[in-house]
Amino acid sequence: MLVVMRPEATPAEIARVLEAIRHLGLTPHPLPGATRTAIGITGNTGAVDKARFVVLPGVEDAIRVTKPYKLASREMHRDDTVITTPQGTVGPKTLTVIAGPCSVEGEGMILECAAHLMSRGVKFLRAGAFKPRTSPYAFQGMGLGGLAILKKAREQTGIGIVTELMDVEHAEAVEEASDIIQIGTRNMQNFSLLKRVGQCRKPVLLKRGMSATLEDWLMAAEYVMAGGNYQVILCERGVRTFSDHSRNTLDLSVIPPAKSMSHLPIFVDPSHGTGKRAYVPAMSLAALASGADGLLVDVHPHPETALCDGPQALVDGDLRDLAHAVRVLPPLFDRAPALPESQV
Ligand code: PEP
Ligand code: MN
Repeated sequence: MLVVMRPEATPAEIARVLEAIRHLGLTPHPLPGATRTAIGITGNTGAVDKARFVVLPGVEDAIRVTKPYKLASREMHRDDTVITTPQGTVGPKTLTVIAGPCSVEGEGMILECAAHLMSRGVKFLRAGAFKPRTSPYAFQGMGLGGLAILKKAREQTGIGIVTELMDVEHAEAVEEASDIIQIGTRNMQNFSLLKRVGQCRKPVLLKRGMSATLEDWLMAAEYVMAGGNYQVILCERGVRTFSDHSRNTLDLSVIPPAKSMSHLPIFVDPSHGTGKRAYVPAMSLAALASGADGLLVDVHPHPETALCDGPQALVDGDLRDLAHAVRVLPPLFDRAPALPESQV
């Protein structure tokens, strides 16, 4: 249920509604809006009686939310969610570019990458310190040592860090090292991990599971939000189909329904979506035209030596072309250019 307060409701009236919700053993989620506050209610297994709330002072209405992904739904939150990070906002009217190697491979390459991206106006570096690999014999990431390198890159350049959390035991360390915590495809339904990042104070980039429906994905986002972390970014990275011409099938057709069903920002990862460098630029542009709020792109200084995912990583020249497109195209879609002109 969603309790909608009147625009002139006082903080004391809002507090009284929160208390009334807690009194029923339920969880209130205050959702401040541009003109009024709404309060989402979760924790109920059956219908909540709206009569209990509409009689309280300052309450305008109480509306039943029909979707099972309540906090993630547009019904609960009409306006697009805006995510705030030290490097800038993510969400409507913007386009955010996150770029970097698949994994942290060493200090030199990460520091070089961070400085290079910042010089191009890219404010977020992606790189995994913990890597989920299909083979147990493949490079598993540098672990805590990798996080220390990422922290150094942020200290030296101010770049925002996006890195994956794979296990609950590393939650604190990853939260400290990152500006956005990535939850990978293979963990989209790792419910203990989702609950744990629900306690974190950093935004969560939630990749879509390889065979997850949109509803599965929004329910995964709901796990994070139900824990009190409302800063969730969805990230489409391709699903498994019968097609074998690319690594995955990048499902850009999920963006319009995701936007209509949810208020959460949605990013696209064309690198894991296609698996091939040559296809990344076209799919990046298509993602932008489809309504994506951001791109997560693999970039590597020397892809031929990459320890992970080299064939899909862009090199500097490709990044320059992409930078040009993300400067010129977003205004056509009512978004600010992703990168400043002087740096392209
Ligand atoms: C990645 O971003 O490097 C990654 C492992 O992605 P995914 O979880 O989408 O496979
Ligand atoms: Mn990868």
